[in-house]
Amino acid sequence: MTYRETEIAIIGGGAAGIAAGRHLHDAGIACLIVEARSRLGGRAWTCDDASGLPLDLGCGWLHSADRNPWAAIAEAQGRSIDKTSPPWSRPSLPGVFKPGEQNEFNAAMAAFFERMSAAVAKGKDMPAAAMLEPGNRWNNLITAVGTYISGTELKNMSALDFELYDDTEINWRVKEGYGTAITAHGDTVPVMFDSPVTRIDHSGTRVKIVTVKGDIAADKVIITLPTNVLAERADFFAPTLPEKTRAAARLPLGLADKLFLNLDHAEEFEPGGRLFGSTERSRTGTYHMRPFGRPLIECFYAGQCARDLEAGGERAFFNFAVEELTKHLGSGIARRVKPSLMHSWGKDPYARGSYSYAVPGAAYERAMLAGPVDERLFFAGEACSAHDFSTAHGAYLTGVAAAEQAIATLKRRV
Ligand SMILES: Cc1cc2nc3c(=O)[nH]c(=O)nc-3n(C[C@H](O)[C@H](O)[C@H](O)COP(=O)(O)OP(=O)(O)OC[C@H]3O[C@@H](n4cnc5c(N)ncnc54)[C@H](O)[C@@H]3O)c2cc1C
Repeated sequence: MTYRETEIAIIGGGAAGIAAGRHLHDAGIACLIVEARSRLGGRAWTCDDASGLPLDLGCGWLHSADRNPWAAIAEAQGRSIDKTSPPWSRPSLPGVFKPGEQNEFNAAMAAFFERMSAAVAKGKDMPAAAMLEPGNRWNNLITAVGTYISGTELKNMSALDFELYDDTEINWRVKEGYGTAITAHGDTVPVMFDSPVTRIDHSGTRVKIVTVKGDIAADKVIITLPTNVLAERADFFAPTLPEKTRAAARLPLGLADKLFLNLDHAEEFEPGGRLFGSTERSRTGTYHMRPFGRPLIECFYAGQCARDLEAGGERAFFNFAVEELTKHLGSGIARRVKPSLMHSWGKDPYARGSYSYAVPGAAYERAMLAGPVDERLFFAGEACSAHDFSTAHGAYLTGVAAAEQAIATLKRRV
């Protein structure tokens, strides 16, 4: 039985789905976002902590902020944009990482990126780890930073894909939360919440979207599901679309998780400082002290490190943070920090990870994933972006592009 019908259905209400929905709604086209969760935003998610501070558990940085469409949207919403330079562009705490060593590490990291650009310019693709200089003392820390960027170890990811990412290196934050701004953009768009889609049947004259609440009939569908969710089920589409399932599988989501700690006597630390848990290991966290000057530490774990910690549960994250911080800041820090909010994105059934990377040889699968099918199924989401993948602004741009493609194929009644 058909439960609802619409001209264009959008599957998933994250940054891409919201962008598509808002674009269609503003153009006067009947559309409906079908969302598995009871909230919009997906991997853009701001939650208030116990004292009411808005914390971004998913995306937090407006990367390429000078050309990031969310910056103008957040400004138009009247939000405060913080333009302070990000912790990774500033020196680490000098008491923890000696300035001379930091310079050495920065030079090694720059040389690594240069080798990668040179190799890729010759038309080669390879695992990014192949660009590490054998025996370089900074290889583990370069690998750790690689996991923060891509959510996976350098050995798993395509160097070519990494090179195709376009970054203006301007990074801003929204004080009220990036997730808050993204979600609010979808306020006027019709949404069906708590409705996981289990199948998209495109065998008939209209597309049938099967949900736990009943079927939806639509003329066109924009699919914005995270790649790990898309790759999970080969029979999600009927008839099956093996090239889409394969592309999604070759653009998996890497893992990155944040843990926020409340910090007593926070004034001891400069706002916005940064330290690595270890400069010797790749399995380590990075710690952002007092983001926005707040009495907090934002702990960030990625790749296998995050995967191992997720296996141990939230307590494992807290214990690991205390262990790494104690090494640098002394045992007193253990009494000054308390766990606040966190989210395990790998265990989240509607994400199954944090942001996409391409496996070696799969950089061009992004175009394959993004391509429409039969002028009826359109694809969006961060993994579909050729140069802004893994980001919320990449998701936005693909959402708007898919909405425009869908509009162009509508036979409008006059
Ligand atoms: C910890 C972390 C830090 C990050 N940091 C940054 C950052 O600083 N800057 C940045 O730009 N990006 C960052 N990102 C990445 C950014 O959050 C994502 O790239 C972006 O939000 C993805 O948007 P999307 O619409 O493509 O996917 P999603 O947000 O995943 O949206 C997909 C939607 O589909 C829904 N869904 C899933 N399954 C179903 C189903 N079966 N039926 C119906 N609906 C379904 C989901 O609930 C979700 O709402 C970060 C992500 C994480 C997790």
